Amino acid sequence: MIVTRGLTKRYGRIQALKGLDMEVPEGAVYGFIGQNGAGKTTTLRILAGLLRADGGQATIGGYDIQRHPRVIHDLVGYMPDFFGVYDDLRVGEYLEFYAAAYGIRGATARTLRDGLLELVDLAAKRDAFVDTLSRGMQQRLCLARALIHDPPVLLLDEPASGLDPLARVEMRELLKELCLMGKTIIISSHILSELADLCTHIGMVADGRILRQGPLEAVLAAARSRRYTMRCLGTADAAVTLLAAFPEVTVGEPRPVNGSGDEQVELVLPGGATQAVAVLRHLIANGVAVTHFAETWTNLETTFIELAREETA
Ligand code: ATP
Repeated sequence: MIVTRGLTKRYGRIQALKGLDMEVPEGAVYGFIGQNGAGKTTTLRILAGLLRADGGQATIGGYDIQRHPRVIHDLVGYMPDFFGVYDDLRVGEYLEFYAAAYGIRGATARTLRDGLLELVDLAAKRDAFVDTLSRGMQQRLCLARALIHDPPVLLLDEPASGLDPLARVEMRELLKELCLMGKTIIISSHILSELADLCTHIGMVADGRILRQGPLEAVLAAARSRRYTMRCLGTADAAVTLLAAFPEVTVGEPRPVNGSGDEQVELVLPGGATQAVAVLRHLIANGVAVTHFAETWTNLETTFIELAREETA
């Protein structure tokens, strides 16, 4: 549904995007994660048609974003990470104003306005001034605005930023509802734990490039299958010495296991499961009493930090 190839963007001396390749299947909720300055906002603004890339290509629904700006405008709803100031505008008027920008007026606009306010749980605030809303309410109003022309694609830039825990939960519930409506959604965030149970897909971005992307479980599984925890009966010293036979394997410090006298060691095996079998075979053949040897459970956060670290290295 959304594909970019070799997208580049420079701001003066800063190369914000360095050949970004993104693939978002139709109906996916794609968590676009990366640290501050990684290039998330730049990518989303290019996809929304608000910024021109210097190089590369981007298509949405098969339409090139530069050659078909009108189509992209209709296909995409964009929620920026910054909510502008709207003095003297009431919530209902705000939505009617944006509806008019899409040529929707009169009774149709009013029905649409009320439906969207219901969806984002702001019906009771229809006549309140926009600048009196809480941050969470403003974010939800901003989302309603992005939905005004019922676009199949939503680009949401940090929709939960600056929200308190309750407002975050409300925003998440709302996003789940949008998923059920079958929209293709990109959500950018640097709060990884929040995305894990919302997203079907993940794209990890660092320094203007995608490090890994794909279905959430596949991205996590690929990272997990490289990290192993090994436990030995008694000290792990002999195992650590024997592991020198595998120079590409990273071996952690042996740590005691709950006062049992046994020790455990964390291993990173670039060769994945095949290497794990070779390592285990070597240890056992040399008389090490291994009591546990399994993939280490890792979360999204650890996976991302490790990949970003490898990339920098
Ligand atoms: P954040 O999570 O902080 O919003 P981000 O991942 O969205 O970060 P971008 O806003 O896309 O990152 O910024 C990417 C890089 O481009 C950063 O180094 C940023 O400082 C720079 N940049 C972004 N916008 C501009 C601009 N208008 N002028 C100059 N540099 C910019």
